Amino acid sequence: MSKKLGANITCPQCAHVFPMQLYRSLWVENPENKALVLNNEINAMTCPKCKFHQRLEFPFLCTNVKRGFALWYEPYPDPQIDKDVADYRKHMGPDSFYAKAPRISDWEAFKRKLLEMEASAPQQAAPVNVSPEMQKKMAGFVTYLEQRNKQKKQGEAIKKFFGKLLGKFQKSREVTESLDALTSLRPKFESDGIYDSLAANKIFTEVRSIIVREKENTVHSISVDKWNPSDLALLLISKSSGNALSCGQYHIYRGTLSGEGQGYRKVFRKSIEELVKSGFITEEEAKADFEQIQENIKGVG
Ligand SMILES: [Zn+2]
Repeated sequence: MSKKLGANITCPQCAHVFPMQLYRSLWVENPENKALVLNNEINAMTCPKCKFHQRLEFPFLCTNVKRGFALWYEPYPDPQIDKDVADYRKHMGPDSFYAKAPRISDWEAFKRKLLEMEASAPQQAAPVNVSPEMQKKMAGFVTYLEQRNKQKKQGEAIKKFFGKLLGKFQKSREVTESLDALTSLRPKFESDGIYDSLAANKIFTEVRSIIVREKENTVHSISVDKWNPSDLALLLISKSSGNALSCGQYHIYRGTLSGEGQGYRKVFRKSIEELVKSGFITEEEAKADFEQIQENIKGVG
């Protein structure tokens, strides 16, 4: 999951103008994305007219949410990055890896830094901070209880309990927004068919738990990639139903879906249609996604 922006590119060789999607942020925990950077193929254009090929000097953010590091490629000073960094300081805290991401203008130095940060990053990132207000409130409450319970052991137990509660509150805004969006999408997936509702129920339950379990990803998608919570929910629905269709578990035999499998296909199709309506993907992208799933369905079972 990464963020892309549309732009009109003018070919430096033949002056042909064509639209292109450029990466503004990239998840480098994904090996394919990391390879895009290391092979100089990130934000690389190929002119549809004269086939001229070149990497474009476009600023973008690389993040590895799981391992807690981020870095900017900033070939020329970009005021939007100043704004984004200010945003991260506010929402994720000044010590978060988002706020502290280095900004590197030289392409070769940028690639070296990416490998260096990856090599020295911990295997599991420290959790992103809660809003300072919430932290203060919770901390104040813990102190209050500690004073009241002078017996040290009791105090410790309570501190532990509220520490856990504090953990639960972490990143809750993005998670809550995404869960709310998921709930309001449910009626769109309503169906009379028993297998269809079975499939929809299973997918919604799975997506609900993914949003909560993969908190860091939820926070990142909403606060950093600035996705609409409803788009995130739809994307997860399409991924979950797509996985179900491609695993062969819902086939009666090779290439042929069971009743429940057909329910998953409806859920998948609906989620893709909704993503087109919201403008998150184009009709061409939706068509390609659906064809890919049809191919996967044919190949398994
Ligand atoms: Zn050209």
